[in-house]
Amino acid sequence: MNLQKIREEFPILAQKAYGKPIVYLDNGATTQKPQTVLDTLVRMYAEQNANIHRGVHFLSEQATEAYENARRTVRDFLNAALSQEIIFTSGATAAINLVAFSYGERYVKAGDEIIVSLMEHHSNIVPWQMMCERKGALLRVIPISDSGELLTEEYGKLLSSKTRLVAVTHVSNTLGTVNPVKELVRMAHNAGAHVLVDGAQSVQHIPVDVQDLACDFFAFSGHKLYGPTGIGVLYGRKELLDELPPWQGGGDMVDCVRFERTTYNELPFKFEAGTANYIDAVGLESAIRYLLSVGMKDIVDHEQALTRYALERLRQINGIRLFGTAKHRVGTFSLLLDGIHPYDAGMILDKMGIAVRTGTHCTQPLMQRYGIEGTLRASLALYNTFDEIDALCAGLEKAQKILKT
Ligand code: PLP
Repeated sequence: MNLQKIREEFPILAQKAYGKPIVYLDNGATTQKPQTVLDTLVRMYAEQNANIHRGVHFLSEQATEAYENARRTVRDFLNAALSQEIIFTSGATAAINLVAFSYGERYVKAGDEIIVSLMEHHSNIVPWQMMCERKGALLRVIPISDSGELLTEEYGKLLSSKTRLVAVTHVSNTLGTVNPVKELVRMAHNAGAHVLVDGAQSVQHIPVDVQDLACDFFAFSGHKLYGPTGIGVLYGRKELLDELPPWQGGGDMVDCVRFERTTYNELPFKFEAGTANYIDAVGLESAIRYLLSVGMKDIVDHEQALTRYALERLRQINGIRLFGTAKHRVGTFSLLLDGIHPYDAGMILDKMGIAVRTGTHCTQPLMQRYGIEGTLRASLALYNTFDEIDALCAGLEKAQKILKT
């Protein structure tokens, strides 16, 4: 993997912040985009823009074909069995809300239980709480160890005949933990429950095969995968999706509209009401093609090497507390420096051109678990370098010198 060449493919990385090279370590929030994705977006608007599915004219047919090709690319990327199992949404949040609504309407009744884990992003907590409120169901929570790993034995105890669905993140956006989802799915299925995997933080770091995981639903966002904002994916097993009612009504999701009774379109269109975000779907396809051209194996190897190095270097800093020390992990590091507010440290890093995130990372219950108000989070992507890890560590030490009284 030629890192220099890769970095040159991301124009934003050549920019400066306050006259200093940008060290972009906020990839968990969103990733930067390679030129090929930017070119695809411009090309789509410049050459192939027309509303899809409804037109008989040349441009509309071209745009429709590009959109449906994008769906096939996502299908192959996730190793889904069928294109109909790929639903384009506006992001992981929308994908989870879709399932929480439609699945809730179809399968959940008073007294049923939904299981989430303590390390979930708010996007994989609140939609289930809302559904539980609507349906009179109960939300149960898988606890975690101090190292930030799910307590699978406790999970086993939570599963029962009342469990309808388990919603769990593949990779924690705060701790970097990679959860044993295949095993979690197996246990849930044994208990007769379905599983939604939140893949917002996994698809960009590890190869995903939804058939191997055997999950029922899988959600992710394009913008965390080097693609555009405003586009995401819900994968769902066809037999299940066929059973679920639509969650939004509008154009494209219908078959025959009558005031007396409306019938719905087939999959996947049943879940894609209104004008689809076909431009960004094709942008997402371009991002996936880019990733595959770099090679997922090379990406994993590089990021894992960076992660090992970062852990070693961060641990050498005096007065640092790392949250999330799981064995299986990606390069997402949440930390605190003794006696220093993460926001203050983040501001000093910013002035050095180093972009990190501070706060709760939309995981307030996880913060509560550790008895803290927030952390400073550095999160890696395929274009990060060993020098950037050194810059982060130097920045943290500088923050200690400036802020420690
Ligand atoms: N799930 C996880 C684990 C995340 O990290 C995020 C975003 O940070 C989301 C869900 C929500 O993603 P989006 O805001 O792109 O819908």
